[in-house]
Amino acid sequence: MDVGIESFYTDSNGSTEPNPRFLRKAESDIKQVQRRIYKKKKGSTRRRLARVRYSRKHLRISRQRNEHAKRVARNVCKSNDLVAYEDLRVSNMLKNHTLAKSIADASWYQFRQWIEYFANKFGKEAVAVPPQYTSQECSQCKRVVKKSLSTRTHICQCACTLHRDTNAAINILHKAKSRGGHPQSNAKGVATSTLVGVTQKRASRYDELRIPAPLGRGVSI
Ligand SMILES: [Zn+2]
Repeated sequence: MDVGIESFYTDSNGSTEPNPRFLRKAESDIKQVQRRIYKKKKGSTRRRLARVRYSRKHLRISRQRNEHAKRVARNVCKSNDLVAYEDLRVSNMLKNHTLAKSIADASWYQFRQWIEYFANKFGKEAVAVPPQYTSQECSQCKRVVKKSLSTRTHICQCACTLHRDTNAAINILHKAKSRGGHPQSNAKGVATSTLVGVTQKRASRYDELRIPAPLGRGVSI
């Protein structure tokens, strides 16, 4: 699957999961609550309370976001034996401020964590592949078809016409099947002893995942 801003994800069959955009929906409300902080006198109880109200709004959004990522990841892992996705460096992408809010809102980071958690739990394979050329390459003939971010359709001279994200998702699946990625889950028992250590390490990370507090990562408005 290909994660995105237009859709939460698009899979290699062309199905899409809509993006909930919790933050965008709550944005005007949250901005209003934020403005109220600065109308109160510095150091006053009212100012402190306004701050509490503001952080509660944020907490609610990050919880909604996490619940959504968890629910979708669970469904994906239940109905597929192999789940492939790009090994994206979300923290680097968050530095690009024009896209930052949307990316954070799409909660890719949590989604990936949950995918790996449920793949492990259900005995499915989760594979992260290098993201290079997944959107530019034609999934049918492997020709490179250059397109900017605003080009939403992949049109190749080999007569392959697909939504850009569907084309990317197929490429991601191909890469995973040819084992271009690193296996994130050894649930099928194919991996070596080094991976067992990785699995154990990950298990402790998932325990942390249940705590909602650190999950609003990288979000600032
Ligand atoms: Zn082609």
